[in-house]
Amino acid sequence: MTKMSPLLERNEQFAAAYTPGPLGPPAAQVVIVTCLDHRVDPGITLGLQLGDAVVIRNTGGRVTKAVIDDIAYLAFLAGQLFSGQVAAEGLFEVAVVHHTQCGTGFLADPGFRQRAAEATGLPEAALEAWAVTDPRTTVRDDVERLLAAPSLSPKVSVSGHVYDIATGRVTTVMDARHPQLAGTN
Ligand SMILES: [Zn+2]
Repeated sequence: MTKMSPLLERNEQFAAAYTPGPLGPPAAQVVIVTCLDHRVDPGITLGLQLGDAVVIRNTGGRVTKAVIDDIAYLAFLAGQLFSGQVAAEGLFEVAVVHHTQCGTGFLADPGFRQRAAEATGLPEAALEAWAVTDPRTTVRDDVERLLAAPSLSPKVSVSGHVYDIATGRVTTVMDARHPQLAGTN
């Protein structure tokens, strides 16, 4: 028995009714970048079905170098595998979703941040950059960061949204834009 045991029982039920689908582009043509917080699972909050969207999750849902690298590879992969199946307007939209009450917000406090740096070995500056205290601000910063990334395919658009833990509602902060239009909005 492990803590996974009850979840594996749920998987038994899932597998019993499962039908595998073919490899294809995500049906919703969306890549979601969001926080790993267990209260903001986009599969549930956005009603995703299997095969609908790629989901990339990390602490805060921040656009890090690793996220930028993932998106560059996904765009390459989609272009290679699905060039005949993707819409003319582009490969996919990357939706960056930050949320209220994010656990990274504690990192804005210098004392908390110092203790976190000592415990994890991470630089204080990196921890400070992680902090989502105002998700409307950080999501804008991260959309701009992704749009400015040299590796971002011009066939990829980027939008920004905030998920409110109190209401369950997702609000769009920045409409989808392609990288060549960065800075004109
Ligand atoms: Zn969070």
